[in-house]
Amino acid sequence: MRKKLIIVSGPSGSGKTTLVKHLLSACKSPLAFSISATSRQPRANETDGVDYYFLSPELFQKKIADGDFLEYEEVYNGSFYGTLKEEVQRLWNEGKNVVFDIDVAGALTIKKQFPKESITILIRPKDIETLRERLEERASDSSKSIEERVSKAEYELQQAPLFDSVIDNDVLEVSTNQLLEKVNSFLS
Ligand code: 5GP
Repeated sequence: MRKKLIIVSGPSGSGKTTLVKHLLSACKSPLAFSISATSRQPRANETDGVDYYFLSPELFQKKIADGDFLEYEEVYNGSFYGTLKEEVQRLWNEGKNVVFDIDVAGALTIKKQFPKESITILIRPKDIETLRERLEERASDSSKSIEERVSKAEYELQQAPLFDSVIDNDVLEVSTNQLLEKVNSFLS
């Protein structure tokens, strides 16, 4: 049976992963995180099958050709990310509502396929400078990659009117509560 889809999106460094983690631990309804596939290399603190399914670029392309993805994007130059149909089905089979942490284009693609069953929520950083500082503090990306993420962020934030809901992530405690409330009211 199909359950609901909760699609959290926003620029890299907007704090959406922290918000999603809080949502998964605080929400009373059955939720589960959709683990995406990616062709990028794992970071030091990442585990295959937990953070992502890390696929070789060749295997990722094969899965595209086989029609295995609900959506996929070349989020950054040469790095593909996508949602596997079987991942969503697996979580629905467990009776869970599925939570996504994906980019803006992917969020809108899933919304088109499930207009009634899904909610799209955009997480907006205070400003681009705050976003850049977060990415620099995280120290997991090269300076070239940070620049790529910042310039993509500007485009992504312009897509805000296409989302069901926007949360300004300024004070973490406020935004975590806002996300929880929005999801609770969507699921009720
Ligand atoms: P990172 O490399 O920092 O883990 O993620 C980069 C971006 O890719 C993030 O903004 C994240 O939301 C997005 N992303 C992660 N998984 C997917 C996915 O399955 N599909 C799409 N379209 N974007 C994704």
